[in-house]
Amino acid sequence: MKLIFERSVKGRRTFQMPASTFPKRELPEALKRKTAPRLPEMSEVAISRHYTKLAKQAFGVNSGFYPLGSCTMKWNPRINEAVAALPGFARVHPLQPRDTVQGSHEVLNKAREVLCEITGMDDMTFQPAAGAHGEYVGLLLMKKYHEKRGDFQRTRVLIPDSAHGTNPASASMVGFTVTHIPSDENGCVNLDALKAALDDTVAGLMLTNPNTMGIFDPNILEITRLVHEAGGLNYYDGANLNAIMGWVRPGDMGFDVIHLNLHKTFSTPHGGGGPGAGPVGCKEILRPYLPQSHMGEWDSRRPDSVGQVRAFFGNFLVVARALTYALTLGKEGITRTSGMAVLNANYLMRKIEPYFPPYYNRICMHEFVISLEKVKKQSGVGALDVAKCLLDYGMHPPTMYFPLNVPEALMVEPTETENRETLDEAAQAFAEIFEAIKNDPDSLHDCPKTTYISRPDEVGAARNPIVRYQFD
Ligand SMILES: *Cc1c(COP(=O)(O)O)cnc(C)c1O
Repeated sequence: MKLIFERSVKGRRTFQMPASTFPKRELPEALKRKTAPRLPEMSEVAISRHYTKLAKQAFGVNSGFYPLGSCTMKWNPRINEAVAALPGFARVHPLQPRDTVQGSHEVLNKAREVLCEITGMDDMTFQPAAGAHGEYVGLLLMKKYHEKRGDFQRTRVLIPDSAHGTNPASASMVGFTVTHIPSDENGCVNLDALKAALDDTVAGLMLTNPNTMGIFDPNILEITRLVHEAGGLNYYDGANLNAIMGWVRPGDMGFDVIHLNLHKTFSTPHGGGGPGAGPVGCKEILRPYLPQSHMGEWDSRRPDSVGQVRAFFGNFLVVARALTYALTLGKEGITRTSGMAVLNANYLMRKIEPYFPPYYNRICMHEFVISLEKVKKQSGVGALDVAKCLLDYGMHPPTMYFPLNVPEALMVEPTETENRETLDEAAQAFAEIFEAIKNDPDSLHDCPKTTYISRPDEVGAARNPIVRYQFD
């Protein structure tokens, strides 16, 4: 496909603005550019076709099945968008007089109430912009808590080896050192290793439950108790809340601080860079340290706050979408949502099992992991090849090579918004790929064959992206 600069024809124009009737103001010479910018010159219809063509090449939940493990690519109900687009929400300014934005304040307060109830927390901030940002803020609360008690030696955070990469990254950004806790044979926290790691230098534990393997840790109460007994706090990575909301609450499992990924569990659109929202909830003991007032001025009632972590109220319209989602589902709907997410994952796992058995063969939660290690040894076909072949079936590949403690991993999360026909079609795709591996394994190295580009240099594209047109 041609780039927009390659379509440019000198002198082509779309709509021309009428001449301004305001007096002309000259910019200072020093601020003026010396040469005119080289913008593409096109007609309106050509621009429209160009971007429509590009949009058709993007893959989204609207295009097909999107079982990207750990990302919860569920359907975003359109009523969320309609509410977020209401002028009373979309056109407000954070510096407007407070009495003109009471409705928006009510949205934030109501969202806090609903999400605290779902998670078992006492208070919540909506400032963090995403999950990783929430981790950073939650860990700041943890740090402040220990410092306030004079516990300055608590500098270690315990993190299981199956954790999302953002967990250790956030911990080290806050200045903690990370101790990895190995998984046991069921993919859960190894209790002996946990006990051995606990002492008075531990600030806390970061855990997601169900974990990235899609397995609910049955020892969770024992785990959080051990950490508390050692004087540490428990941090809940809420990225997997979609498996349990309405059934169990992190607050009741013994967690003191959590983040939510509204763009995962609460259906606000994601992929392609956001915006998301990673609100942080906490128990009463951490409330004094929550981020400062939303309006930018220092709130003297909260002298121990960790300060402001983002402008104003965070990504407010994301919160408005999430609240709409929660209220349209209601209490029963929320519970049913996570129930269906778990059912769909187990259904698909068992349909795929004859070809690609799960890495941990037990009832999963909202996602499951398969390993292509054996297949790769026998046929040379690995997780990457299978993922690429799935593209030819019109579906987005599962998450690849994560979690890190599973070799040749594919992590599948169908979500609750897929129907049985879609899951059956996906299982059929896996079955056909399995056949292809038996009959002609080498052909799989050429997949995908139906997409615009086949196998880009992914590392090169990530490390050295060319984002500017290279004029010759
Ligand atoms: C997605 C995810 C995160 C990070 O969330 P972002 O919103 O992408 O920053 C953290 N932990 C787990 C388990 C996740 O799946």
